[in-house]
Amino acid sequence: MDRLFIQAKPIIERLKAAGYEAYYVGGAVRDYILKREIDDVDIATSATPLEIKSVFSNTVDVGIEHGTILVIHERRGYEVTTFRAETNYVDYRRPESVTFIRSLKDDLRRRDFTINAIAMDEEGVMIDPFNGREAIKKKCIKTVGSPTERFGEDALRLMRAVRFVSQLGFKLDNRTEEALIQQAPLLQYIAIERIFLEMEKLLKGKHVKRALKIARKAKLNDYWPSIFNQEQTIEQIINMPIEGLDLMELWLLALYLEKAKEPQKQLKKWKMPTKDMKTLLRALTFLNWRKDNNWTNIQLYRAGKEIAVMVEKIVCVLHHEKPQAITVKIYEKFAEFPITERSQLAITGTDVLEWTRKTPGPWISQLFTQLEEEILNKKIPNEREMIRRWVEKWGNPSSDKCSKH
Ligand code: ATP
Ligand code: MG
Repeated sequence: MDRLFIQAKPIIERLKAAGYEAYYVGGAVRDYILKREIDDVDIATSATPLEIKSVFSNTVDVGIEHGTILVIHERRGYEVTTFRAETNYVDYRRPESVTFIRSLKDDLRRRDFTINAIAMDEEGVMIDPFNGREAIKKKCIKTVGSPTERFGEDALRLMRAVRFVSQLGFKLDNRTEEALIQQAPLLQYIAIERIFLEMEKLLKGKHVKRALKIARKAKLNDYWPSIFNQEQTIEQIINMPIEGLDLMELWLLALYLEKAKEPQKQLKKWKMPTKDMKTLLRALTFLNWRKDNNWTNIQLYRAGKEIAVMVEKIVCVLHHEKPQAITVKIYEKFAEFPITERSQLAITGTDVLEWTRKTPGPWISQLFTQLEEEILNKKIPNEREMIRRWVEKWGNPSSDKCSKH
């Protein structure tokens, strides 16, 4: 058994010693069967949340109303969830309240896909009433029970289906695919934040193309808020060698292909974290510049290593070339630079003020921009004394450089 299951075993044993049932469930069991790396071990139990808390001394209430208690064991947290049934789905979303039950099979029944509805006991024995292992063998994603009903209960499952396609490279079972196509419009009822999380997992998957093809076939993209929502964009991406692109690069490629007039507005519609949005907007500016120009040292420096790599990989893909060895090439280039960011300059703004005795103003930023260029072009070395001389000349109206000052 995997190390993570062994580490979590005492939790199952303690629950059982207290008279309850307890099993490993969900994604960890699926990934274990698939020999994929496991990240979180989830445990399902017949004990109610209060009963779970009475068994363990160190717990955190992370989602008590949904039956989930975080049990801390040897400095790791494990989600222990009471067997539950989900009924009364409203507005095509998972219900706010759930019913705690004592039957494992009924708990497995409310899970989305058969590959996610397998339980395993502490000895490694599988409980698999919906033939999830067979589905794993056949590389098939199939809902537990009627796909039309299951997608109707909770439309996020539409996104989950395609993101599992991307992560696992599986196919959709025929009936599941038909229902996906038929129920796609229900995605409009799901909060963007939740769609976004699934979209990111989809884009990180190894089989993005396959997932995007199915999403397009079902027209799920009609219910995505912007970027990637146009059929034409998906079509183009599917025909490009995107295999070496990571999550942010895929967003950048799609953003570029959509040629949006107001890219920021488009990114905002996805409710993407601000930090990522800023990175993408900066990268897009450099990408738009790069398509008609070649890099100079100064432009590479201004872009920074990460953005330069992103942009260059996209340029490659747009030329239908595989973005191989780009990272190494750009890193090598940066390694030749005397400085790779402003903080590496041998002087600071305070030095400049002291040397020039001028009042601070926008000129400082102009000075630094020029200084960086001089240093990058190796006109002056990044040494304090040499820079001081340069700054003094820069501030001296009789010098050519400073005729405007
Ligand atoms: P990941 O590897 O991304 O964590 P996962 O299968 O573990 O994948 P989670 O979102 O962590 O996915 O959910 C854990 C389990 O809970 C799933 O394996 C599935 O059994 C069940 N589950 C999660 N979301 C849903 C849903 N929307 N409908 C039904 N069951 C769900
Ligand atoms: Mg999980």
